[in-house]
Amino acid sequence: KIEAVDQEIEQLKAKYNEIDVASVQTFSSFPLSQKTQQGLKAAHFEKPTEIQRQSIGLALRELDILGAAKTGSGKTLAFLIPILERLYNLKWSHLDGLGALIISPTRELAYQIFEMLKTVGKFHDFSAGLVIGGKPLREEAERINRTNVVILLDEADRILDMGFAQTMNAIVENLPTERQTLLFSATQTNAGTTRRHDTTQAHRLLPTSSVV
Ligand code: ADP
Ligand code: MG
Repeated sequence: KIEAVDQEIEQLKAKYNEIDVASVQTFSSFPLSQKTQQGLKAAHFEKPTEIQRQSIGLALRELDILGAAKTGSGKTLAFLIPILERLYNLKWSHLDGLGALIISPTRELAYQIFEMLKTVGKFHDFSAGLVIGGKPLREEAERINRTNVVILLDEADRILDMGFAQTMNAIVENLPTERQTLLFSATQTNAGTTRRHDTTQAHRLLPTSSVV
């Protein structure tokens, strides 16, 4: 017996290679799970921004991505939507622990990402957490491993906090080699770009720079 959820996942995946970025005008025309569509609708997000349009299709195809677009262009959903979709497609559950790690360079941004995740992800069943340090290493590491989607603050200031630096290093060193990396940065100009990123390079980038 094929469960309804398996059927939905198969139908979504079958459409990934047909996504025509040039013609996608609304989120509803992207092959996204009902739960994500509901979250977007509840938050009144109807049309993807340029960076979202370009990134979501590539990320759904499991490619590594390097995206750049100016502040306010919608980079947060450009990576949160693929995170929700990939975990959903894998039928990720509470029992599976950490499935996605989001690294933010500032506290403010970490909170914004967390809020957006709670908004668009509210119909999903994933656990999510914000880790900004200050707690004992073991406690923090245990919480991170138990949580499905973790937003981790990698603030320059905190490099001086040895406990936190230790946590960060341990996490990055223990990331699985088989993973998908989405790296977004802000540009000063209007010109946004999204490109498929060389995987090995993305892996090398990760420990020293920050996603988002
Ligand atoms: P960036 O990370 O590029 O600075 P954000 O992800 O913070 O951009 O988004 C900027 C603002 O635009 C936020 O207030 C967010 O709620 C809103 N936003 C993002 N995507 C959309 C969309 N597709 N439709 C309408 N508003 C959006
Ligand atoms: Mg922003």
